[in-house]
Amino acid sequence: MRNLLIVLSGPSGVGKGTIVKQLMSRGRYCLSVSCTTRSPRVGEEDGRDYFFITTEKFLKMIDEGGFLEYSNHFGNYYGTPKAFVESRLLSHDVILEIEVDGALKVKAAHPEALLIMILPPDKERLRARLKGRGAESDEKIEERISRMDYEVSRSGEYDYTVINDDLTAAVSEIENIIKSKKEQI
Ligand code: ADP
Ligand code: 5GP
Repeated sequence: MRNLLIVLSGPSGVGKGTIVKQLMSRGRYCLSVSCTTRSPRVGEEDGRDYFFITTEKFLKMIDEGGFLEYSNHFGNYYGTPKAFVESRLLSHDVILEIEVDGALKVKAAHPEALLIMILPPDKERLRARLKGRGAESDEKIEERISRMDYEVSRSGEYDYTVINDDLTAAVSEIENIIKSKKEQI
């Protein structure tokens, strides 16, 4: 059985990080650690949550072909380090937690990748989760919410859409999707 490249996307605040944490606790997956030029949030650690790098270093990695994909999102660069993912895929199913444009670039380069879009039950609940997380200003929260319509508009290009209403149900739905895809490859 080959290992799977699993790509999770969804609006900021929908619960991707929370879902990934639960999936990772199963011990079966490897999580790709992206590079970003944004500043770390309280509690985030370099090398665990992201590789926090300068714009100069990011641009150099682009030139060197070091990214599987990258995009500029909310004024910062985010990218998936190619060598990291390729080496982990040799032994594990690898999860990428990335936004839509990057995810569709991964699908174009790796058609066998499994793309799952995670959406909230509605915008109000998304707003409440972003406010509850307390990491961004109201202005940044509205910027992130307004991006949701774009993400929904591209969700038809994903293999599956999962609504994160009840967390446990969403995690088990994702695990079932992964299991059935692995049985096909
Ligand atoms: P993302 O990684 O998509 O930006 P997070 O995982 O940081 O989102 O989740 C944003 C907030 O929503 C967190 O405070 C998290 O605890 C909460 N949350 C996640 N899933 C649910 C859920 N199913 N129901 C209620 N709150 C949730
Ligand atoms: P945040 O700043 O909230 O951590 O992430 C903002 C957005 O960037 C999220 O939608 C997240 O999925 C996305 N993201 C994180 N890493 C990558 C990456 O390597 N590539 C792309 N394209 N998007 C990423």
